[in-house]
This record gives sequence, C-alpha cells and structure tokens, in this order.
Amino acid sequence: MHITGKHINYYHICHRKLWLFHHGISFQQTHENVADGSLLHQTAYPQRAARYREIQIDGIKIDFYDPQDRVIHEIKRSDKLEHASVAQLQYYLCVLERHGVPEPTGLLEYPKLRQTQTVALTDADRAAIPQWETDVERIVTAAGCPPVINKPLCKQCSYYEFCYVGE
Ligand code: SF4
Repeated sequence: MHITGKHINYYHICHRKLWLFHHGISFQQTHENVADGSLLHQTAYPQRAARYREIQIDGIKIDFYDPQDRVIHEIKRSDKLEHASVAQLQYYLCVLERHGVPEPTGLLEYPKLRQTQTVALTDADRAAIPQWETDVERIVTAAGCPPVINKPLCKQCSYYEFCYVGE
C-alpha cells in the first residue's frame, strides 16, 4: 500500500483516526475551516506557484518543494499537534532521500502565527520511520477499528461525534 503524509500524521495523533481515515470514513470539517485552509494555501505565499514545484512520489504529495535548495515547505494553520506535523514532514524527507535527493530539509510554516520551524532528518529518525510504516500497515489492515483514546484533543477532532455519540 502507499502510505501518505496523512497516514503518518494521524498515526502520531490517534490510531483510531488513522484507521477511520484509511477506510474512507470521514466527516467534513465546517465550511469555514475548509475555506480557511484553502485560502491559506492560495494567499499565504502567492509568489510560490511560480517558484516551487508540486511533487507526487510513492503516494505522498508535496505542495511546495524548492528543488534548488532541496527544501520542503509545509504550511499549517496552527501549531497544535505539532509533533504530528513534524513526523509528516520527516516522512516526506525520508521518501525524498529514498529517491536520491541528498539531505533535504523541511520548513514548517505557520503564516497566521508568523512562525517557522526547521525540520531535518536525523539518523534516529531514519531508523524509526520503517517501524512507523510497519505500524501503519498493521493498524489499517486490522479488521477492527482501534478504541477511542479519550484525550482532550478529541474535542477538536472531526470524528468526535462519531466516536463519542451515545456515551
Ligand atoms: S475523536 Fe479522539 S478517539 Fe476519535 S478519532 Fe478523533 S482523536 Fe481518535
């Protein structure tokens, strides 16, 4: 199977969310959030369309890649669940390395917060990522959906009502 950036992101947030996403079960975010996210990509850095490339390899899709400096730019609305965004970006870096790109780096960007964070791939990350892939495959191919995690982040999750309705 092709593992996407979302698989890796959700793996680091909630295995149930990962399983539900993989099985095509989704609940639309509010129209406001969707519009806000699309607008952010279009307007945050309007000069990017000409300068950077969109690339798709091995199931991942990178919206803004600077081939000259070998930098992936990943735009996020907020720094909540940043560990998952970092992991997603590290996975992109790993896939690029597997395809022969030497030492790519990533930049997590939060236009609304006017903040950025540089993300690099360490040897420890390179060693850990194959296990992430194995775990993702094991979780999504399991017959049953993993249990709810009962964490504060659930209240911000699009699956919240699905997971907790009737409790
Ligand atoms: S609501 Fe909580 S348990 Fe349900 S998918 Fe989202 S994060 Fe996981």
